[in-house]
Amino acid sequence: MGKVKKSDIMEILDSYDKSDITIATLGSHTALHILRGAKQEGFKTAVVCEKGKEVPYERFGVADEFIFVDEYKDIVKEEVQEKLRSLNAIVVPHGSFVAYAGLSNVEDKFNVPMFGNRDILRWEAERDKEREMITKAEIRMPNKYDKPEDIDKAVMVKFPGARGGQGYFICSSFDEFNEKIDEMKARDWITDDDVKDAHIEEYVCGTNFCIHYFYSALNDEVEVLGMDSRYETNIDGIVRIPAQDQIEANLSPSYVVSGNHPVVIRESLLPKVFENGDKLVESAKELVAPGMNGPFCLQCLVNDDREIVIFEMSARIDGGTNSFMNGSAYSYIQFGEEMSMGRRISREIKNAIAQDKLDVIIT
Ligand code: AMP
Repeated sequence: MGKVKKSDIMEILDSYDKSDITIATLGSHTALHILRGAKQEGFKTAVVCEKGKEVPYERFGVADEFIFVDEYKDIVKEEVQEKLRSLNAIVVPHGSFVAYAGLSNVEDKFNVPMFGNRDILRWEAERDKEREMITKAEIRMPNKYDKPEDIDKAVMVKFPGARGGQGYFICSSFDEFNEKIDEMKARDWITDDDVKDAHIEEYVCGTNFCIHYFYSALNDEVEVLGMDSRYETNIDGIVRIPAQDQIEANLSPSYVVSGNHPVVIRESLLPKVFENGDKLVESAKELVAPGMNGPFCLQCLVNDDREIVIFEMSARIDGGTNSFMNGSAYSYIQFGEEMSMGRRISREIKNAIAQDKLDVIIT
């Protein structure tokens, strides 16, 4: 099946009543402030919800329309797409939307106007592509090891898939790598198949900042809208146990995100923060035209040389934006009002409608 064509999406958009646009998303991830932000900017809202999972969207009163599906992945079913188009919907993609709908379905089957660059989603989903985009931007990443035999200092070993950091481990030698692989297999956290896909990278000892940028394609400008750090289970639980008891307890760490803390970075690092955002936007323009469009996130560790080391990126709204649903220190400095990432997206859509430039921000 061919890819969804921009020209087809533009035709659908042409048929929309621009004075009656609905902002829609899947009921998960960052839907609360995407929808709340849309309402603040004067749009109608719709949420596609798995039956039984509608509670937050009802109780917080953020959705005008509920489209119920048996399973989240049904968002790509033709009748759901039709319903969305009948509402003049622009869909905001987020991490759960991509995970549940399936990347190929979003690329090939989802004929509903979407905010942002549809083609860039694959670049964050595939580790090699992600690394190519970040290193092309000459942004510092953890060094990658091609094979476990080369391990010569502390490394972090990661596995593919959406298990959210389960089975990740730290080791410092090839022998320790083998030992820990056996432990993880015994726990059924990884399989033999996973082992050959193990991704090994330098362990960066530092503090975590996930920096939420918004690239306005309308203004050709990168904004820093907020930052969070991750609350991860069970590693954040393990560090509450005194060292001696940790050894006794013999727990394996996992890095599954269970929440987010809002955070600010020391001000002297901000020039680098902006520089990284600007450089990534440039590299994205070259690799996957027209490049970034809207929210993106660089997940970093700041080490004691005060280097900002990027270990992951999101090329769409990241879950950590939930830490500033009523605005962040930075979005307040920029806008002087309660600007969540969700609201910023709708502000961009509103501006594009006013300037008759929806084609710049929709795919
Ligand atoms: P990821 O699945 O890549 O988002 O990583 C999950 C968590 O592992 C992160 O939130 C960090 O706490 C930690 N982490 C990831 N990469 C590294 C690294 N290279 N060095 C140290 N910690 C890391």
